[in-house]
Amino acid sequence: MTATQVTAYVGIGANLGDALGSVQRAILQLDRLPATRLSAQSSLFRSAPIDAGGDDYVNAVVRLDTQLAAERLLAELQAIEHASGRERSYRNAPRTLDLDLLLYGHDVIASDALTVPHPRMTQRAFVLIPLLQIDPLVNIPGRGPAHAFAPGVMAQTIQKIA
Ligand code: ATP
Ligand code: CA
Ligand code: CA
Repeated sequence: MTATQVTAYVGIGANLGDALGSVQRAILQLDRLPATRLSAQSSLFRSAPIDAGGDDYVNAVVRLDTQLAAERLLAELQAIEHASGRERSYRNAPRTLDLDLLLYGHDVIASDALTVPHPRMTQRAFVLIPLLQIDPLVNIPGRGPAHAFAPGVMAQTIQKIA
């Protein structure tokens, strides 16, 4: 039996320690996940923290072709975060690495551990802009084309890292 292949998008952020290195390492680790292939990656971006102090974030979005179930993929993302030294202290605290499952195929998921599409992705330039760079026509299940949300985040400054 062949497991179904799903296209998933993961948002990556880091603003503690070697943030650029953490994001680059995370991208390599995502490509090495079992039954998973990294099929696209955005540029790296810098963004100011929202509702929190700390250094600027380094952000990126990647597209994965995966046969992992959504819950299993989330567990793998958390394992990568953990390996980066991430500690969960308070909400929006600076972190060595944050991996959010943005989209998982056309699925809409609302369980205790997992909400997909990620509920705040449409409010964040550091998610929408890299996502649209990879796939300008990507659709957010239940919400419509991602590009429709871009005008709403244009006031947030994010910069492409050269
Ligand atoms: P935000 O979700 O606003 O970006 P955050 O990334 O700082 O905030 P975390 O502390 O990293 O939040 O995660 C809190 C919990 O969110 C995790 O324990 C995880 O179970 C849950 N969660 C729910 N949906 C998702 C998702 N789509 N991707 C990642 N984590 C999720
Ligand atoms: Ca997050
Ligand atoms: Ca997170």
